[in-house]
Amino acid sequence: MPALSYRMLNIGGLPAGLLGLEELFAELYDAGYGPADENLHKALIAGVKKHNFIPAPALPEYGRALCMEYARYCRQKRSGKAAAARDYGTWRGYPREQIPWFPTIAPELCNDCGACLDTCAREVFERDENGHVWVAEPFLCLVGCCFCKSVCEPKAIHLPGQEILKNYREKM
Ligand code: SF4
Ligand code: SF4
Repeated sequence: MPALSYRMLNIGGLPAGLLGLEELFAELYDAGYGPADENLHKALIAGVKKHNFIPAPALPEYGRALCMEYARYCRQKRSGKAAAARDYGTWRGYPREQIPWFPTIAPELCNDCGACLDTCAREVFERDENGHVWVAEPFLCLVGCCFCKSVCEPKAIHLPGQEILKNYREKM
């Protein structure tokens, strides 16, 4: 049996590594699930649980993040863009996905102005089908950068403090 794909998702502002996500998305897409399908949420959670542990209190956040990611997958498929797992590279010798440096957006403060999206050169932000800005690719974020935070007038963007980076010494 081929090895399952592995990728990180931004679940409620925290990185979570998931096995088999690409295979699950492809299976649901081929089965005709659209982003607005009423059974999508249940199918995603059941599919992810086959290979991953989801703590019960985190189920709503997982459901929300998985539905958003699946909607993005469908957009990419329909536009003909390959929805392939990305290689995020390394930082100071550590896999990029191990560095918890990326923006999170406080939805109650964000007015979807798009300033962060226009400022970031790394395609970290996207708009969903309802026009809401979200952090679609957290691990494309440049470690140590704070640009988007400085242009967000309602102060909806949070980033970690620079001091956390001291925990990651250069790997030889
Ligand atoms: S700049 Fe701030 S308010 Fe504007 S879309 Fe980005 S997060 Fe939302
Ligand atoms: S911190 Fe910099 S690289 Fe990261 S999302 Fe914001 S603007 Fe983009």
